[in-house]
Amino acid sequence: MRIGEIYRPGEFGLSFEIFPPKTSDGDAALWDNVERLALLRPAFISCTYGAGGSTRTRTVELCQEIQKRFSLPATAHFTCLGGTRAELREWLALARDRGIANIMALRGDPPAGQSEFRQVVGGLKNANELVTLIKAEFPEFGIGVAGYPEKHPEAADLEVDLVNLKRKVSAGGDAVYTQLFFDNASFLRFRDRCDKIGIKVPIIPGIMPILNFAQIKRITSMCGAALPPGLANRLEAAQEDKDAQFKIGVDFAIGQCQDLLERGIPGIHFYVLNRSQACETILTTLGHR
Ligand code: FAD
Repeated sequence: MRIGEIYRPGEFGLSFEIFPPKTSDGDAALWDNVERLALLRPAFISCTYGAGGSTRTRTVELCQEIQKRFSLPATAHFTCLGGTRAELREWLALARDRGIANIMALRGDPPAGQSEFRQVVGGLKNANELVTLIKAEFPEFGIGVAGYPEKHPEAADLEVDLVNLKRKVSAGGDAVYTQLFFDNASFLRFRDRCDKIGIKVPIIPGIMPILNFAQIKRITSMCGAALPPGLANRLEAAQEDKDAQFKIGVDFAIGQCQDLLERGIPGIHFYVLNRSQACETILTTLGHR
């Protein structure tokens, strides 16, 4: 199913995001986990595109495998760092020919060791340009774009960032998937402001169930999401106990999702970190069938 067809009135769009594993053990574990995630009947499973374009064909291959093994639509993430315009077209044609349903169209983060985004010579500078290219030349894809309730780290302020988000939506983005966040108030403010400036596509909260403290500290320091002090303190106090950290993370996500559901969100995009267990517990507790 294309992204534009998922969030109909009365429908709830669940999606899961995975990343290409770096080892064969990671690969084997991934398929066990994806099999369990598939049982939760997501609208799609998405697969990230490695920072700096490091997973060029792997993302498409994993998406194709998800579609084949589980008869589920897949969403391939793709970034402006995928190459020159000609190389971006080549990759999009490959994804189209392999039957991938949707593209998450992104600018991309710089590769490890590089602090700033550098546009590929002959390539694209911002995600809105990638959306424009896809819409004009590959209209068969559904298109997701990224939004930042706590603003993108490079943006001067949320106002400017929202104007840029609107460019992506006006160019053809079918839904906005947010960066992970832990403070629902920031998401609700963001959603209201999107509405006020005329962003009318579904805004899907991105939820990352915390699996352990060290990992979430690393992730939030990279993406700029704020970890509420109370939650950080509880995780820190449980530093020696992995199970306790997992339970704190799952309980927090249950409360967060419950509150968002009461506020009428059209779907949830879970950053699952290639593990199904937290989402299985969260969704079962929430009564998802
Ligand atoms: P853009 O929309 O281009 O925005 C980047 C910055 O430029 C913002 O500050 C924005 O305000 C500004 N801006 C945007 N358009 C313009 C314009 N026309 N003129 C001037 N300024 C502008 N990264 C990966 O490498 N691989 C992935 O698979 C991946 N998946 C992601 C999935 C989701 C749901 C999210 C939320 C993020 C993901 N990222 C991924 C991270 C993303 O690549 C980074 O956050 C990146 O820094 C910005 O990408 P973007 O698409 O939001 O960029």
